Amino acid sequence: MHLILFGPPGSGKGTQADKLVSRYGLAHISTGDLFRSEIRQKTEFGNKAMEYISRGELVPDALTIEMLRARVAALSDVRGFIYDGFPRTLAQAKALDEMLAVKGDAIHLLLALDVPEDEIVRRILHRGLSSGRPDDTDEAIIRNRITVYHQETSVLFDHYAVHGVAHRVNGLGSIDEIFDRLCRHLDPLF
Ligand code: ADP
Repeated sequence: MHLILFGPPGSGKGTQADKLVSRYGLAHISTGDLFRSEIRQKTEFGNKAMEYISRGELVPDALTIEMLRARVAALSDVRGFIYDGFPRTLAQAKALDEMLAVKGDAIHLLLALDVPEDEIVRRILHRGLSSGRPDDTDEAIIRNRITVYHQETSVLFDHYAVHGVAHRVNGLGSIDEIFDRLCRHLDPLF
């Protein structure tokens, strides 16, 4: 089972991914979390990624894809994966598709959380009060992340919609309401 949880920054992907993991027993792969872990450990990889993250830009594809590959390879023997925050560019999507195709696999489902921009900015600023993430406290950096999302990432919906696996889900409401909406797409697949 390969599921992409899609949507702009601050749309609730991480929160929902945690709940989906407990319900369906999938492995959660968040490239943002992986980068933050590298940054905390002060690896060379983390230092490079931090330059981009602190400006609200995307980390270059080569670095991101390498990290993703290593993480997937380390998690053998799982029921499936939830990709959160990956892919974010067409090159990343192609790399992921190829990685899966080698094993005769493909993305089964992409669920896109739909949340209006003002609500996203509000949520991220709120998260910034306690997350300790410097990229969550500066509105200009947050707006830049949203612009990058529109320029580079949002087109990926169509990349997967062509295969009939992409669906939009209303991302407004309580955490449980949104979770129920996601489960309605996932339950039939389990
Ligand atoms: P958010 O969903 O709030 O943007 P993430 O934790 O997913 O938070 O990402 C934080 C930052 O990490 C992004 O703004 C970006 O700089 C970097 N990042 C995460 N995933 C990717 C990716 N797939 N490709 C490039 N950069 C990424």
